[in-house]
Amino acid sequence: MSDLDTKAPKTKSEPPRGGELSSANKTAGKGKSTSARKPVRLDEKFAKLGLRKDMDFVLHLPMRYEDETEVLPMRDAGFRGGSTVQVEGEVTDNDIQYRPRRQLVVTISDGTGQVVLRFLNFYGSQVKQMEVGMRVRARGELRHGFLGAEMVHPTYKMVNEGAPLPTALTPVYHAGEGVSQVMLRKAISNALTRVDWQDTLSPAIREHFGLCDFEAAVRLLHNPPPDIDQHALLEHEHPAWERMKFDELLAQQLSLKRAQASRRAKGATALPTVGALTAAFMQTLPFRLTAAQERVLEEIRADLKQVYPMQRLLQGDVGSGKTIVAALAATQAIDSGYQAALMAPTEILAEQHFRKIAAWLEPLGVKTAWLTGSLKKKEKEKAQELIASGEAHLVIGTHALIQDSVQFAKLGLVLVDEQHRFGVAQRLTLRNKAEAGKIPHQLMMSATPIPRTLAMTYYADLEVSVIDELPPGRTPIVTRVVDQNRREEVIERVHAAALEGKQVYWVCPLIEESEALQLQTATETYEMLSAALPDCRVGLVHGKLKPAEKQLVMDAFSRNETQILVATTVIEVGVDVPNASLMVIEHAERFGLSQLHQLRGRVGRGAAASVCLLLYQGPLGFTAKQRLLTMRESTDGFEIARKDLELRGPGEFLGARQSGEALLRFANLEKDQHLVEQARNLAVDLLANDVATVEAHLHRWMGQREEFLRV
Ligand code: ADP
Ligand code: MG
Repeated sequence: MSDLDTKAPKTKSEPPRGGELSSANKTAGKGKSTSARKPVRLDEKFAKLGLRKDMDFVLHLPMRYEDETEVLPMRDAGFRGGSTVQVEGEVTDNDIQYRPRRQLVVTISDGTGQVVLRFLNFYGSQVKQMEVGMRVRARGELRHGFLGAEMVHPTYKMVNEGAPLPTALTPVYHAGEGVSQVMLRKAISNALTRVDWQDTLSPAIREHFGLCDFEAAVRLLHNPPPDIDQHALLEHEHPAWERMKFDELLAQQLSLKRAQASRRAKGATALPTVGALTAAFMQTLPFRLTAAQERVLEEIRADLKQVYPMQRLLQGDVGSGKTIVAALAATQAIDSGYQAALMAPTEILAEQHFRKIAAWLEPLGVKTAWLTGSLKKKEKEKAQELIASGEAHLVIGTHALIQDSVQFAKLGLVLVDEQHRFGVAQRLTLRNKAEAGKIPHQLMMSATPIPRTLAMTYYADLEVSVIDELPPGRTPIVTRVVDQNRREEVIERVHAAALEGKQVYWVCPLIEESEALQLQTATETYEMLSAALPDCRVGLVHGKLKPAEKQLVMDAFSRNETQILVATTVIEVGVDVPNASLMVIEHAERFGLSQLHQLRGRVGRGAAASVCLLLYQGPLGFTAKQRLLTMRESTDGFEIARKDLELRGPGEFLGARQSGEALLRFANLEKDQHLVEQARNLAVDLLANDVATVEAHLHRWMGQREEFLRV
């Protein structure tokens, strides 16, 4: 680390010095909180940003650029409210005001007009620094204040008259706590002088794919020349960006394929026995497997017999019967003398799996353990003991399963339900719980089909099984889109259904800003329905209930003791009460398509014809309208996912929650599909023919990020 500027910062954060553009607000605000603590070394702060080696700094490319090449004459400031501009002038007034709160108010003038700079957090040294007569260059958002044009907390620096303006766009980097743009710029420009610029791609490859030189691209992005095509630069369309995106995607492809190979090399325990337990279980099933279930089960059985780990995604629309397939995979593991673990994203879902699967398998002698975060300490320890001793054959739970304290005796198979709800890191941890040196077989389940670009990238090494038919006897769900004004009619309909012995879900609106508000709405709806329908029993379930309370409510609904269940989106995934055949979703316009599809999938699970009423509040925007129409027209999860992708783009499929970390920094899966394909082809070729290039490229691009790609 000797090559970095690693001097520990002074104990007290300093206010911005002259000559540096930095946000006075940030520095001053933080000064208070950090001064008491031990100072964090600069290299540690950089490390938090993933910046350790010189090449990390070199590849820390600007997030955006600012145009500081111009200064706006202040006479024009009045016309530019709301935009971010740069002004420069002499301080004509410098005043600390106390109303409405203590603040520093500095007025600067350039002879054509004046602008007020307002600082709510400031140091005494700043008051001195901006004495009357001093010259300030300030950049910030203009707005119209009491005294005319003003900027609140502009970035600024002290300059001498005639100080030259930058001639090129100024890069703005992703920074972190205690790391300023200036520090980053300095560290990056130092690193630029030291790294090995050897291009990892040969001239022949560059020519073939029309790529520019690596060094030239990087240097240009850090220091764009004044005459650059600014649009192409900002939109990541410039050839320099193309090169970065290609390199990044290539690294990703190489890394995925490598990970796949190394996973295979590590090996897994074969689970070959489809034995007595599985046979007995099949005997007790109340229904026959569909042809699609049989087919995917065969695929899974064949995988489990191998001595390298299965890595399979079981895809099937909501209600297609994935759980039973997973349970049959588990019995194969148990028949073969190993443990299986099933992890679900929510407590309600995990609980439901637990009770259902335990009811199937415990009579056949399978010992099942239950583990979630909300268990009491004693119960948790008891469960952990069962798991560690191997007494429990099957373990079901939430992400509590992946905690360090959970040790498996002989984990052979991991089942992950609704896999897209988990981060990559979480799935990886469970994988590390097999016997030393081995990896458990993994089956992931999802009702959300993977868009093609994602299948080619993040999930490139996954086998996929698809259940493409629903169990027989289901009548398709009829979906109606209903104006909120007709709520009374809807309540009548709910009433009628309940009186006929049907069960109803009433889903309360998603209120993203406030969980408390969401809860309040659910409670009010519950009270409203209880009052309006005194001859029906109404239940209420939401995320804030204690697990035991939640269970009571769900139990009562499962047993048809309550007819109407008012719920927040906690019921979104997996909940299975086949007798429920009417669903009302309030403010359906606030939900995403896949969420609506998941929710709607809670009905249509039994023989009764099911109805889903999507209540909306107009006027509807274009996208919201498209979403509701799609829901009305289709019950096919794949079709809905395709539409969803069209309306939202693939980014959303991979929110931070899913990827564990934003893995692609520069490329955009939707816009850069052509690059994804090219990179993939090249990766295959290089892995077969040019190990040296593979090594060099991965070394440059992956560093410590590689582990995250081992999905
Ligand atoms: P999902 O694929 O959404 O997880 P589930 O596994 O919860 O679906 O199954 C939905 C419902 O269908 C459950 O009540 C389940 O018992 C039932 N089911 C599953 N397979 C069949 C089948 N082959 N025939 C009839 N019902 C089935
Ligand atoms: Mg399910």
